[in-house]
Amino acid sequence: MNANELSPRLQVVADYVPKDARLADIGSDHAYLPVALVLNKKIQYAIAGEVVQGPYEAAQRQVAKNGLGESIEVRLADGMEAVFLEDQVDAVTICGMGGVLIRDILARGKNLQRLSGSEKLILQPNVGEKQLREWLTVEGYTITAEEILEDHRKVYEVIVAEKLEAAAEYTPQELLFGPFLLQERSAIFLEKWQRQLEKLEKVRANLARSDQQLAEKIAQVEQEIQWIQEVLDESK
Ligand code: SAM
Repeated sequence: MNANELSPRLQVVADYVPKDARLADIGSDHAYLPVALVLNKKIQYAIAGEVVQGPYEAAQRQVAKNGLGESIEVRLADGMEAVFLEDQVDAVTICGMGGVLIRDILARGKNLQRLSGSEKLILQPNVGEKQLREWLTVEGYTITAEEILEDHRKVYEVIVAEKLEAAAEYTPQELLFGPFLLQERSAIFLEKWQRQLEKLEKVRANLARSDQQLAEKIAQVEQEIQWIQEVLDESK
């Protein structure tokens, strides 16, 4: 794969980065996304933020190898701490992590005033999409686009969110399934939720079984109490 070619998952994310955006890619192992975007001339400036030394160095090497040190700043930092308001970032990508971690990175970024609220957020949670949508909604973001795709036999969702003049409101079902994905109901979406249904049905069966076991155990203990009481009463 060339440096300007992305995996299908990251390509979908890249497609939502606005032309000429000032991008912060948080959790930028190897800096693949910003490097491809700059090489393809979609953007001219990016910050690649990484909190772990190894991926940070991998990102530095990738940027240097492609001669992009002028365009991409690789910063070793926790979450949005890689970004300052003076950087005038107008798009943030956070990909390949759990939705709860992405949510916590954004929430901390907001508290530390590293997130102005005017950035376009392009998020690709591996799991925990519902919790991420819930946070976005509470914070007044509107989900402006969503994608679901399969890459290397895994299903991924991409959520694009922005603060608009009037924030959208979502039903609990829309927060779980995704407002756009629910409307579209693609084949991948239906497969994903069919698998989840089968998983939950197994959970329900196991719970019913453990309920049954619990009831049997309680009955056993009650029987034993009764027998002991009878013996003790008879012996008085
Ligand atoms: N974003 C890339 C992608 O989607 O292919 C890399 C995904 S990789 C699975 C997740 C990266 O996020 C790791 O390199 C990890 O070190 C980094 N990471 C996790 N928590 C982070 C945080 N709080 N701040 C910055 N980077 C973080």
